Amino acid sequence: MSDSPKSDFIRDIIAADLASGKHETTITRFPPEPNGYLHIGHAKSICLNFGIAQENAGIGARCHLRFDDTNPEKEETEYVESIKADVKWLGFDWGENLFFASNYFEFYYECAVHLIKNGLAYVDQQTADEIKSTRGNLTVPGTPSPYRDRSAEENLELFAKMRAGGFEEGEAVLRAKIDMASPNIVMRDPVIYRVLKAEHHNTGDAWCIYPMYDYAHPLEDALEKITHSLCTLEFEIHRPLYDWVIDNCPVPAKPRQIEFARLNLNYTVMSKRKLLQLVKENLVSGWDDPRMPTISGIRRRGYPAAAIRNFCHKVGITKFNGITDVALLEFEVRDYLNTASARRMAVLDPLKLVITNLPEGQSEDIELDNHPKDPAMGTRQVKLSREVWIESDDFMEVPEKKFYRLGPDRHVRLRGGYIVKCTGFEKDDSGKVVKVNCEYLPGTKGADAPAGVECRAAIHWVSAEHGVPAEVRLYDRLFTVEDPDGAEGGFVSVINPDSFKTISAWVEPALLEAEPEWICQFERLGYFVADRHDHKTGEKAVFNRAVALRDSWAKK
Ligand code: ATP
Ligand code: MG
Repeated sequence: MSDSPKSDFIRDIIAADLASGKHETTITRFPPEPNGYLHIGHAKSICLNFGIAQENAGIGARCHLRFDDTNPEKEETEYVESIKADVKWLGFDWGENLFFASNYFEFYYECAVHLIKNGLAYVDQQTADEIKSTRGNLTVPGTPSPYRDRSAEENLELFAKMRAGGFEEGEAVLRAKIDMASPNIVMRDPVIYRVLKAEHHNTGDAWCIYPMYDYAHPLEDALEKITHSLCTLEFEIHRPLYDWVIDNCPVPAKPRQIEFARLNLNYTVMSKRKLLQLVKENLVSGWDDPRMPTISGIRRRGYPAAAIRNFCHKVGITKFNGITDVALLEFEVRDYLNTASARRMAVLDPLKLVITNLPEGQSEDIELDNHPKDPAMGTRQVKLSREVWIESDDFMEVPEKKFYRLGPDRHVRLRGGYIVKCTGFEKDDSGKVVKVNCEYLPGTKGADAPAGVECRAAIHWVSAEHGVPAEVRLYDRLFTVEDPDGAEGGFVSVINPDSFKTISAWVEPALLEAEPEWICQFERLGYFVADRHDHKTGEKAVFNRAVALRDSWAKK
C-alpha cells in the first residue's frame, strides 16, 4: 500500500518542474522547531517531504532535516535528539543533510544590511503596542511609523547598535519597508529583527538580536537551495512576504513555497503547547506516554512506523483543512498488524479451568500456527496442563442467547487442542465463579467434534503451570470527546479516566522472551507490544495494548 504510486497536487507541480527543466532535481526540507516532541501531524509533513525525496532519489533528490532554532528562548537539545530519533524510526534518512538555522545568523544579518542599503528596511523605535495599533486592520490601512523614512546611513548605524547591544528589548526593531496600505496585513512593514537578550543553545551570547520566522525561513530555504518549500495552509497569506524576502535579498536560489492542509485528528490535541501542558502537569507519564499523539508515544503504544506511513498516504495531500477520524489511524494499525504480526495467547482476566481427567504433573504439547494465513511464520509448541487459565467472560453460569462458549454441560474447544466439557464450577463467598471443572474429550485434538457433541467456539487459554505472569497496560483514547480543544472546561476537563488501566495477566512463556518493541496479536483480544522501557526480556513481561481487535468507539 505504501508502495503504490503517489500523486497529489504538490507531486504534480514537482513533476512538471522537472519535466520543464526548471529544476534538475528536487530538494525539500523538514524544518521542525526544537521546542517539543514531534507528533502525528509532523509525521504527515515528514512523509511528504522525505517521501518526495525518496521517490526521486534516482535524480539526486534529497530532503534536509533542518532545525529551525532561531528562537533562543524555548529550545532544548533533548528535543533535537528526540526529533532525530523519531524521523529515523519513521523510516527516513537525511543522510548528510542535517542543518541548524542558527548557523545562518550572520547571513540573515548581511541580508538585513542589504535591505537597509536598498531602502527596504528601517529601524523602528516605536513601542510594540504602537507598532501593533498602527498596523490597521482588514478595512483600515496601516499608519506609517514616524521612523519609516530614515536614511539608509542612519538605519545602518542604528541596526549596528542593535546588534552591539545598544538597545534593550522592545526599544528598537528592524522592519521591512513594504506597504503599510497593503490589503495583506502581513505585508504592512513586518518586523524582521527584534532585540532579545537571551542565551542561545548554539550561539551562546554572540547575538542579542534575532530574526523573525517569516524573514529567516525563506533565507534558510534559499541558502540550502531548497526547490520546493512545503508548509501548512496557515502560511498561505505569508507567501507574498516569503517571495518578497527571496526577491530582495542576495540569495543563491529561488525556492517556491507551496501550502497544504495540516493534519487534524478528532479525540486528539496536537498543539505542542497543550502536549507540553499534559506532560508538565503529570496528566500523562511523559512525552512518550502511549496515549500521546507524539511519534514517541505512538511508537511506545505499538503502532508500527509502516502503519503510520500508510495512514499519512491514505489521508493524502490536499488544500482543504478538515478533521481526520482517529479511527482511520487505528484502522491502519489493525490492518497492518493483522498481516504482519504473529499470534500468541494471553489471558487478561483469568479464571481457573481444571481438566479433571488430565492427571496432575502431566502436560501435552500443542502445536499452534503463529499466523492463520501465513505459513511462513511457522508454528510453536505450547503446553497444555491439568490447570489452565481462561478468560472469565468465556464462562457463563447461565449462558445468554447466542453465547456459545463455556457453561454448565457445554462444550468448547481450547484453541489448538481438545474439546472440553464443563462438568461443574465453584464460587467464592461473594458468589463469584472462581473455578470451573471440565473433562477433555480424547481424540478431538485437531479433529471435528464427535457426533452428538455441539461445539461452536474455540477459546484461548494459558497453562497455569507453564504460563508466566505479565503486566498488561490497557490504553484507550486520551479524550472522551471528538473536539477536546473546544470543550467548555478546556481539554484537560475531558481526559478519559478509563484511558489507562494496568492489569495482571497470564501469558505464554514465549512472551517473556520477546524483545522490547516486539508486537503480536493476543488472540481474540488485540495487538500488544512489549514495552520499550519496562519490558525486560527473560525477567519481566510488560505489554501495552496498541489497539483492540475491534473499534469499540464505533458503536458509541
Ligand atoms: P505547533 O503549532 O504544534 O507548535 P509547529 O507547526 O509550530 O507545531 P514545527 O516544529 O514548526 O511545529 O513544525 C515543523 C513542520 O511540521 C512544519 O513544516 C509544519 O508545517 C509541519 N507541521 C506541524 N504540524 C503539522 C500538522 N498538524 N500537519 C501537517 N504538518 C504539520
Ligand atoms: Mg512552527
